[in-house]
Amino acid sequence: MTTHAPVLVVGSGITGLSAAWLLTRAGRKVEIRDAGPQSGGLLAPIEFSGIPCDRGSHRIHPSAHPLLLELTQDAGWDKRPRRGRLVLAQSHMQYPLQMGDFLRGLGAKTTAHMGLNFLTRPKAFRRFTSWEDDRQDARADIGFEDFVTERVGRRAYQQFYAPYVEKVWGLHPSEISQTVAKARVSTASPVSTLKKAISRQRTVDHHFLYPQQGMAGLVEYFQTGLELAGVPIHYDSPVTATDLDDWNGPILFSGHLSDLAPDEGLAHRGLYIIHASLPKHTVGDTDTFYVPEADYWFGRVSQPAQFSTEMSSEDCDVLCLEIPEGQWGPSRDFTLEVDEINRQLRRAGIIPASASIGTVKQTFLPRVYPLYTRGWLSRWQAALRTVAAMNTVFPIGRQGLYLHCNIDHCVHIADECVRHLTEGGTAQAWIDSVDRFLELRVRD
Ligand SMILES: Cc1cc2nc3c(=O)[nH]c(=O)nc-3n(C[C@H](O)[C@H](O)[C@H](O)COP(=O)(O)OP(=O)(O)OC[C@H]3O[C@@H](n4cnc5c(N)ncnc54)[C@H](O)[C@@H]3O)c2cc1C
Repeated sequence: MTTHAPVLVVGSGITGLSAAWLLTRAGRKVEIRDAGPQSGGLLAPIEFSGIPCDRGSHRIHPSAHPLLLELTQDAGWDKRPRRGRLVLAQSHMQYPLQMGDFLRGLGAKTTAHMGLNFLTRPKAFRRFTSWEDDRQDARADIGFEDFVTERVGRRAYQQFYAPYVEKVWGLHPSEISQTVAKARVSTASPVSTLKKAISRQRTVDHHFLYPQQGMAGLVEYFQTGLELAGVPIHYDSPVTATDLDDWNGPILFSGHLSDLAPDEGLAHRGLYIIHASLPKHTVGDTDTFYVPEADYWFGRVSQPAQFSTEMSSEDCDVLCLEIPEGQWGPSRDFTLEVDEINRQLRRAGIIPASASIGTVKQTFLPRVYPLYTRGWLSRWQAALRTVAAMNTVFPIGRQGLYLHCNIDHCVHIADECVRHLTEGGTAQAWIDSVDRFLELRVRD
């Protein structure tokens, strides 16, 4: 294989599109294959009421890796105010959380129990403060339940953490890895949530970035550029381990890692996306409601119109509900359960008591979230060894590396891989270096 052989990019989500773009910019000949019928992966639009809606609440954070913005600057970005609400105990709090709300969310009794736990068990307090560092140590994976209980005590674990894990993953928390040990309302530790909440009062930007033409516009922007550069995209063209020998050159693989190493048991959970219409002006100006409690099927409910005028309908308000696959499995039909959805939306204060959703469309997205069960790290390493033995395959992005990460992370990984390849690096050396991407933290 020469370093100038044509490159096959597998997957045309944001990872594959940006990798192909960067390779083309570096003067390499590129072809793309995707298992699906269109580009975009998780950023591909879902048509509802004539609107190209996102697959759930999607935005770019102001602290995102600048390469994404640089590559797409001509696509145009809007800076929009964050109007998130956290729904807890039937009341609404501003999200991201302020310090007072964080403590209010925990509740007086639970805060008191946690305080008592720390006073009587100083070791628990030390563990609590080093939560974020400890949780990354997947080698000594004691599981979510023990990890969290040791740090916040049984009461907070049972009240906040266990129901959330069961709702999202549909498994008992003892089966889930400690690396998933998120605070109930944050991606980091409770301590860093508190620190962030304090500093946020002064420093944090309460805005987000959104492409002027929507995420669909971003995908189209890449697609048009690649078309002009003569890069062919082959759809409905899944790639498995047995197909790889047919390609005489390097392969940047942003498809699912489990498709290359099916025997390693890397599992996923999917997500139901429900788009629903309501009479105009029913919902107010909240962009996203975060709903962690187990009483509700949905974990997030967003309003596409609050992200872009391109996703605003003249005739109706549109809501997008995200229901984790969790306990349901992949074949539940939520469109048959509109009465219950209405009841839950009203109880959460998302729609008024008198309102009801009208037209409803369900889309099930399989394999959206890596299912990090206990001991997953050794299975991940075994899968990567399998891929390394193929010699020409460079796994990249959220799916290729089995990561839970953001859009800009995907672009950053694609960039790192393209640099590695164009500097003559081997697939084995790339795979040896990818555990650094496990440090990437999702931002809500
Ligand atoms: C509900 C939700 C909300 C999100 N919100 C945000 C947000 O606000 N901000 C943010 O930055 N990120 C967000 N993300 C994450 C973001 O969507 C992903 O990180 C990103 O889109 C992943 O891009 P990707 O190209 O790596 O994977 P994907 O988008 O999954 O694309 C992979 C592509 O590869 C193809 N493929 C898979 N296997 C094969 C195969 N074997 N052969 C050929 N093709 C294959 C698929 O068809 C697909 O087109 C969110 C994700 C979800 C699910």
